[in-house]
Amino acid sequence: MEILDFQPKSWVEPFRIKTIAPLRKISYEERLSALERASYNLFMLRSEDVFIDLLSDSGTSAMSENQWSAMMRGDESYAGSSSFYRFEKSVKDITRFMHIIPTHQGRSAEHILFSTICKPGDVIPNNFHFDTTQANVESSGGDPLNLAISEANYPHLEHPFKGNIDLERLQQTLEEVGTEQIPCVMLTVTNNAVGGQPVSMANIRAVSALCRSYGVPFFLDACRFAENAWFIKQREDGYADRTPLEIAQEMFQYADGCTMSAKKDGLTNIGGFLALNDTELAEKCKQKLILIEGFPTYGGLAGYDMEAIAVGLQEVLQEDYLRYRVESVATLGQKLLDADIPIVRPVGGHAIFVDASTMLPHIPQHQYPAQALGIALYLSAGIRTVELGSVAFARKDSEGREQAAPLELLRLALPRRVYTRSHLDYIADALIHLKHNAAHIQGVRITWEPEQLRHFTARYALCLPSNTEV
Ligand SMILES: *Cc1c(COP(=O)(O)O)cnc(C)c1O
Repeated sequence: MEILDFQPKSWVEPFRIKTIAPLRKISYEERLSALERASYNLFMLRSEDVFIDLLSDSGTSAMSENQWSAMMRGDESYAGSSSFYRFEKSVKDITRFMHIIPTHQGRSAEHILFSTICKPGDVIPNNFHFDTTQANVESSGGDPLNLAISEANYPHLEHPFKGNIDLERLQQTLEEVGTEQIPCVMLTVTNNAVGGQPVSMANIRAVSALCRSYGVPFFLDACRFAENAWFIKQREDGYADRTPLEIAQEMFQYADGCTMSAKKDGLTNIGGFLALNDTELAEKCKQKLILIEGFPTYGGLAGYDMEAIAVGLQEVLQEDYLRYRVESVATLGQKLLDADIPIVRPVGGHAIFVDASTMLPHIPQHQYPAQALGIALYLSAGIRTVELGSVAFARKDSEGREQAAPLELLRLALPRRVYTRSHLDYIADALIHLKHNAAHIQGVRITWEPEQLRHFTARYALCLPSNTEV
């Protein structure tokens, strides 16, 4: 009677809900006053004033019963805790790197790595540096160079591996800058900044070969390695029958090390690691770890955090999970596309990126259209998102003038295992509502900003519509 075996047409959440956190519907007046208190910076809102929180997929995952129960056996010994060895084994099973250094999150791994290998004047090529990576390279005096393929500049152009690095420009950089001044090459999987786009195995393999021929170490920024592995399985010839674990192992095999935020594909609320094969470098990094994080068998983490990561790294590679994860993001994306909302295509692994310049053509880049759209989405529906456009990525030229970012994107990051299909419907409907009322959305100006990573703490004021007489 196998004919009776039901094959669902679409993805289903591969979990049931066991503990709930209530969501509070907030009135328009409350949202308006919360925004004013936050100086229109959505990072400054209290989470209790948010209905659906798409600010970040980082550290926002719901943990499984297996993770929670593993935490109960957390060994909090100062040195040599059994939790560390379980964590180390879990990381090594996937990455096969020799030295595993636990940190409290990804940026700490980046800081330890770059403050050790990067000197003033060095260049670190990447497909696209994440903001903390860029800042850590810069704070070591290095130049973070983004070499994404040119297709990544066109938000509406379909490409199966839009996260790839431009191999020709990478080779040219290795030739022109010289290997003395390139302490490593990095690849960010998936490429967060251009839309959570995957990097192909062919691209990873080619970067690896190029780096080896020039004798330059190659690191992965591996935050979303499992989502990247899933895209390779779906889209790249020869991988359909490989498991996500096998694909991930192959990805890591081409690299000499990685930085990782376990707050993403570790399915935990905190944690990260630096992993590498170079024993001498690992030793230097561990000395720095002791200085700023902790002893090498706990780094920046409690024993129970390492337990949760050890389990999370296994769960994140399960096929049912990855299908749900990637396809639920795609479902939201398709609803928006069906309503003619301009989003980065194809839809990436962890987020939808709305192209705010196209959606709000009346707002010029210097009035930060993506920030304006984020404010409007919160004000209209209580949904919190993040700007990844000129507020986050503009660079200053030598005279201190701002060079706009190539794209003005608003990111709707989906926390892992947190929201259901009806939440996705609510989000889509809210954006469609804004599309119909786009002309009423106002640009913003920055009234205060810090020196670095300004999007976290900048304050804003709304610009008056240009046709308004003051
Ligand atoms: C989140 C992230 C980081 C930094 O990790 P944290 O845990 O937030 O410090 C680095 N790179 C990428 C691609 C990220 O998404």
